[in-house]
Amino acid sequence: MPFAMPGHPFEEMGPPTWKPAPRVRQQYPSSRIPSNTKKQPTYTKKRLKETPYFAVFEPFEIIYCQKCKDLVPTDSIAIGTHLQGPCYAMSPGPAVEKAALQARALLDTPDDKNMIRRRGELYARASRSDMILPEVAWLRPATSGYFCLLCGQPRRNRTVLREHMRRVHDGEKDMWGTTLVQTFRSAGAEFLTFRVRRRG
Ligand SMILES: [Zn+2]
Ligand SMILES: [Zn+2]
Repeated sequence: MPFAMPGHPFEEMGPPTWKPAPRVRQQYPSSRIPSNTKKQPTYTKKRLKETPYFAVFEPFEIIYCQKCKDLVPTDSIAIGTHLQGPCYAMSPGPAVEKAALQARALLDTPDDKNMIRRRGELYARASRSDMILPEVAWLRPATSGYFCLLCGQPRRNRTVLREHMRRVHDGEKDMWGTTLVQTFRSAGAEFLTFRVRRRG
């Protein structure tokens, strides 16, 4: 019989009879503490996957505009719309269509016109305990933020994290920690926040 209780935050720590002592509950479960010796995801290859206007940010498999660094849906229509916007101000026509198809071909993922669903997937990826990236030099600088000790989700704002604890974790109050975060924006609004560490 397996020891793990599926979905329980302490499932990796022992048999179902194991109960965390109150002191331990204030800490990040040791099996999920991000370790620097673990292989960290990198994005050094991002330059290999780019077009004149867009590039791929490998850790999240997202396409971003090389000018404004906004994330765009992996959908050639949305990419074409961005090409005609303030960043590149291209006129509608074959050049836009060609560039949009090129950019779309950077990623082998389904169209994500539904950015809300896509956001859920990206949140899940950003929540992995080993997903702590080196600070990304070309995004807005890292700032201090918060993350949930139960599921790993990072947020810039403590009120927003509290709301997450209330909604997802039944109002659990103490299970959060501090972390450095950076954020991808989309259409000018904050879209995806992820944990980073300082370089060097
Ligand atoms: Zn742009
Ligand atoms: Zn959580």
